[in-house]
Amino acid sequence: MKVEFYRHNINKSDIQRVKDVLNSIFLTTGDVVQSFEDKLAMYLGSKSVIGVTSCTAALHLCLLAWEIGKGDEVITTPMSFCATSNSILHAGATPVFVDVEAETGNINSELIEDAITERTKAIIPVHLYGQLCDMRRIHEIAKKHKLVVIEDAAHTIEAERDGVTPGSLSECVCFSFYATKNITSGEGGAIATNDTEKADLLRMLRLHGIDKSAIDRYSKRYQHWDMSVLGWKYNMDNIQASLLVGQMERIDTYWERRNYIWSLYEQKLRDIKGVEILKTVADSKHARHLFTIQVTDKKRDSVLIAVQGKGVGVAVNYRPIHLLQYYRDRYGFKEEDFPVAEKIGARTISLPLYPGLKDTEVDYIVTSLQDILKS
Ligand SMILES: *Cc1c(COP(=O)(O)O)cnc(C)c1O
Repeated sequence: MKVEFYRHNINKSDIQRVKDVLNSIFLTTGDVVQSFEDKLAMYLGSKSVIGVTSCTAALHLCLLAWEIGKGDEVITTPMSFCATSNSILHAGATPVFVDVEAETGNINSELIEDAITERTKAIIPVHLYGQLCDMRRIHEIAKKHKLVVIEDAAHTIEAERDGVTPGSLSECVCFSFYATKNITSGEGGAIATNDTEKADLLRMLRLHGIDKSAIDRYSKRYQHWDMSVLGWKYNMDNIQASLLVGQMERIDTYWERRNYIWSLYEQKLRDIKGVEILKTVADSKHARHLFTIQVTDKKRDSVLIAVQGKGVGVAVNYRPIHLLQYYRDRYGFKEEDFPVAEKIGARTISLPLYPGLKDTEVDYIVTSLQDILKS
């Protein structure tokens, strides 16, 4: 049997929407992007959404828009994809890592205050695997120290915790529509914010800092445009957006299916010796993006290779950022700096989780894993 790590959910109606765009005159940022932005804003209950080319771009622009750069420190987690801390470097600021909670892998809010200095300007929490961080606690700290909170919600559109949804308390929140995320356009990203002034600025910053988009320039009587700030080239186009509009409509159906698969995994893995599963916080809605196991008795890599040998796609999310070569070389990070993140990083394996995954495939994955752990 072959079970891919991820299969996207693009269907015939999505493909038709792409064809409609390709048959139209307007390929770049226009009405379809607007329509997707409106749908995501509505889903989140957010005032503004700005479509961009990636979550990395989204994080970078948010740092720029909130004037965080050279000489500033930004607190974040080592248990994430390197995009999170790379965006801080792109903005010219310094990432300051804080270790994570053993039970969830999310940034440990109790350790944040110790990492704050007079140069700290912002916190970028990551909602790991789809579980929201303790945003109420993080915002208490942010308020006390006057810090901006930029959420990395690349894993997490659908979640809720303590009445908080992605971005609802923060200055802004960033999403990814990369090929393996819960909804995807191959590459893509978005920012949501309730700050309408910053939303206008972000709209300019995603396209060089110019004050008219192509649709403004060409759909109406020709208008001259000006450039008052230096922006980037991060605008989402109508082709990408056309893939996302339909997925946005099906997002809750997809979540239901992934939530069900998650419960199957939990039931079947509960009594298996040699693996542990991270916790879902009580009374919260987890976005169910990545299902991971922690290998306790064997070497993770030997289990990883053996599972792959059974035809099952696997991934490691993540080896902690501070131990990546560049971060070691540049900042002198080493083993033991963030022991909880390192423990997760050394033991974790992500298993397939997507709406198209069949119950029989889940059975096969669990049985394969059981055989490997026993041998
Ligand atoms: C995927 C991912 C990103 C980067 O998203 P892109 O859209 O590829 O830039 C950032 N943070 C986390 C946690 C991710 O998983």
